[in-house]
Amino acid sequence: MGRRAGRRWVTYPPNNSYFSDTKPAEESIVLTMAEFEALRLKHYINLNQQDAAKKMVISQPTFSRVLERAHQKLTQALIEGKSIKVYGGNYSFRKAFLGYGCLDCNHEWEDKHASKEKKVDCPKCQSDNVYYLVKEII
Ligand SMILES: [Zn+2]
Repeated sequence: MGRRAGRRWVTYPPNNSYFSDTKPAEESIVLTMAEFEALRLKHYINLNQQDAAKKMVISQPTFSRVLERAHQKLTQALIEGKSIKVYGGNYSFRKAFLGYGCLDCNHEWEDKHASKEKKVDCPKCQSDNVYYLVKEII
C-alpha cells in the first residue's frame, strides 16, 4: 500500500470532469493532428523533445511550440469544460517499414510490396537466407 499523497490546494473544481464528443462541434476545442502527435510522443510514449521532433521531422524549437499550443488548448478545454476534437492541419502519416533482412550480411532493405511468401535474394551478398521484415511505428 502506497503512502497517501499530501493535500494539494486547488482553486476550482472542473466545469466538466467527463469529456465526450456529444457536445455541439462549435463548443469543442480543435487539436490539430500535429498537436495530438506531439502530446502522444512526449507524454504517452515518453520521448524527449529532441527524439519526438525527429519523429515528426521538425526542429526541436518547432516541436516545443506545437507542444505548448497543445497544452494551452487542453488547458482551455479542461477549464471551460469543452469537448476535444482532433483533426486537420498539414500532416501526413508515417509509414511502417516493410521489406527484408539478410541473415548472412545483416543488410536490411525496404520493399513496399514485400510479403512473407515472396522469395527474394539479398541485393548486397546475393544470399537467399532472407527474412521478411516489418518494423512497426512507435
Ligand atoms: Zn546479404
